[in-house]
Amino acid sequence: MLAPEEQVRYDRQIIIPRFGEEGQEKLKRARIVIAGSGGLGSPAAIYLAAAGIGAIRIIDHDVVEQSNLNRQVLHWDKDIGRKKVDSACEKLTGMNHALKVEAISETISEQNVVSLLMGFDVIIDAMDNLLTRFLLNQTAIKLKIPFIHGAVYGLEGRAMTILPGASACLRCLYRGIPPKEKFPVLGTTPAIIGCIQATEAIKLIVGIGRLLTNRLLIYDGTNMKFTELAVKRFENCEHCGKGGGTNEYHY
Ligand SMILES: [Zn+2]
Repeated sequence: MLAPEEQVRYDRQIIIPRFGEEGQEKLKRARIVIAGSGGLGSPAAIYLAAAGIGAIRIIDHDVVEQSNLNRQVLHWDKDIGRKKVDSACEKLTGMNHALKVEAISETISEQNVVSLLMGFDVIIDAMDNLLTRFLLNQTAIKLKIPFIHGAVYGLEGRAMTILPGASACLRCLYRGIPPKEKFPVLGTTPAIIGCIQATEAIKLIVGIGRLLTNRLLIYDGTNMKFTELAVKRFENCEHCGKGGGTNEYHY
C-alpha cells in the first residue's frame, strides 16, 4: 500500500494508463544496481530516485575530478576529490528521503561481480569500458537479471535492453573490443541515454510498454536523429548461446 504522501508525490505517473498505484508499489519494492556513477549513471540514478525506486546500489571506484563536471551531474564543484559514490549517495537521498541508497566504492572485477549484482531486479550498465560491460553482461545472464546497456561517444549514444535467455545480449552485438582511450562526450548525450535506460528500467518493473530488446537504439545528436538497428542473438555467443563459458574475446 502507498502512503497518502506517496499517492500525492507520484500522482502524475500513477495516472499513466496501466501504471496505477500497483505500478508505483512495484517501483517501491524494486532494487536496482547501477554500475558507474558518471555521465550515464548520474541521470539514470536521478530519474530512478525521482520515480520512487525503493533501493539503489551504486558502484564506482573513482573520485570526482574537475574534468568530470561537464557531464556527471550528480557531482558538483564542492565534491572534487570526494568518492563519487559518497557524492552520489548524498544527492540521491536528498532528492528522495524514502530511497535506500547503498554506495559501493569498488572496482568491478571477476572476483566481486556476482556478489555485487546478486539479488537485484535490474542492472544498469553505466560503465565507460567494454571489458567491464562484458563482465556485467555475462553475469547478468548467469544470474538471469535484466541488463540495460547504454554507451556514449561525443554526440552519439546507444542503448539496448537485454532479457537473459530471451533477447540478444551485448556480446551478440559487439564481437570485438575497441582500444581503451579518452573519448569525447558532450554532457547532454549521456543525459539522454541515461534517461532512456531509466525509462526502460521503470517500464520493465511496472510491466508496461515495449522494451528495447533485440534492437539497438542509436541517438545521433549531430544530426538530431534517432535510428534503430535490429540485433539478432548470435547462436554461438560466448555469453548467451552455445559458445557459453569462455572469457576469450576476439578482435
Ligand atoms: Zn549473446
